[in-house]
Amino acid sequence: LNYIKRSLHLLTEKVYIDGEWVTSASEKVFDVLNPANGSVVGTIPDMDIHDTKKAISAAADAFETWKFTTAKERAGILRRWYNLLVENQDSLAKIMTAESGKPLHEAAGEVAYGNSFVEWFSEQARNVRGEIIPSPVSSKRILIDHHPIGVVALITPWNFPHAMITRKASAALAVGCTCVIKPAEDTPLTALALTRLAEVAGFPKGVINIITSGRNNAPAIGALFCESPLVAGISFTGSTQVGKILYRQCSSGIKRLALELGGNAPFIVYNSADINKAVEGAIVSKFRNCGQTCVAANRFLIQDNIYDSFITALLNQVEQLKIGDGMQPNIQLGPLINDAQFHKVSELVLDAVSKGAKILTGGKPASQLGKLFYEPTVLTDITEDMQIYSEEVFGPVISVIRFKTEDESLDIANGTQRGLAGYFFSEDVAQIFRVSNKLEVGMVGVNEGLISTAEAPFGGIKESGLGREGSHHGTEDFTYIKIQQVDGG
Ligand code: ADP
Repeated sequence: LNYIKRSLHLLTEKVYIDGEWVTSASEKVFDVLNPANGSVVGTIPDMDIHDTKKAISAAADAFETWKFTTAKERAGILRRWYNLLVENQDSLAKIMTAESGKPLHEAAGEVAYGNSFVEWFSEQARNVRGEIIPSPVSSKRILIDHHPIGVVALITPWNFPHAMITRKASAALAVGCTCVIKPAEDTPLTALALTRLAEVAGFPKGVINIITSGRNNAPAIGALFCESPLVAGISFTGSTQVGKILYRQCSSGIKRLALELGGNAPFIVYNSADINKAVEGAIVSKFRNCGQTCVAANRFLIQDNIYDSFITALLNQVEQLKIGDGMQPNIQLGPLINDAQFHKVSELVLDAVSKGAKILTGGKPASQLGKLFYEPTVLTDITEDMQIYSEEVFGPVISVIRFKTEDESLDIANGTQRGLAGYFFSEDVAQIFRVSNKLEVGMVGVNEGLISTAEAPFGGIKESGLGREGSHHGTEDFTYIKIQQVDGG
């Protein structure tokens, strides 16, 4: 009963350090705004490095006991957390829509997806096993064991306010690490709500800590995480630019680092494709979260023979998309998250149009709805000199490139330093294996526009990152291998 009462108060304006809900020592705060209408959703602590040091030392103290708990104990607490997250899914989704702008049905989808990692890692906790390796000396045995690395700092972005936290935290907690979470400044309220439920689930004090800060303090907090000898590893999801800063900073202490950075996903439609599947895939891959996902299709490569019919079918769907405040029913596209994102999208479109791109639909702000809304857009005649050709747009803009041969499509698809997701549509089995094999990415969707699930390892190559999240590999970033050589005499 107690936890049901508390779930009504999931919206919280304090942070959680060492088992206490506290404010910043400086008493500074910042507002979290609803991107659909600019209203204040919450006002929360703007923590600095002094506050962060307390969170790190609480996590370090807690690690001394948490690391010796059994996998069964950790699995039990994670399972309780999962059950609470499920019981409170509606209220989590509403908080998420209020601060992120994503439509409520999408927020509910993310809550289910985010929760699934807690469930998954509650099960994985007891499946992290060692090995015995034969020694070259007959009396000896080599034993391999996986140990938690220690305190981990988790830095997350605003586009998936729930799942980016649970995908990291539940893996880390499952293997016996303790954590300090720093959510994005745009969407910290979902993160605080998750933490409230973690507290109720029964994690001992100091095992989970969360600090919030405005954008100004984020670099100093990031540097502290990288440099503090009490932190063993960092797991970051966000921009490639910040990922590179963290990589550099982690070199001083040779910290473990997991990075999930930007993508530049190709979406290729071959002549043999099933057009309906391809259009459906294009819509979910591009317009989920208003195009603000790192696995969003970014470059649409359409083969010659199917080009006209694909574009006609696509336009038909795009023109029906309903855009508005995500709290309203039947909305498919919410606002962009903030001014910086809005300007980036507008400028990429203006740049493309000034260099000869054609707008088939959209191509401008939907200012009648609010200042951060942008119309779903289709641009064709995209050429290499346009910024949108090589940059991740992170908005509701489809940019189309026409190609003739499979080799040409692969050259374009792979001609980037990013390598996260890639999608293609083909009904030709030989082509399916050939193209999958050649795409330089960590995740391929074949005749599919949505590929993330707790069972599958998520991650990229090239400048898209290091490590894999989710799946049975998702604990590897949080453990180290220790060997023991035993001489039985
Ligand atoms: P985006 O451009 O999508 O906001 P960022 O990479 O800038 O992505 O932000 C992702 C997360 O990284 C956020 O939590 C943000 O506060 C944090 N962040 C921003 N700058 C730094 C930095 N220099 N060091 C550590 N974290 C940072």
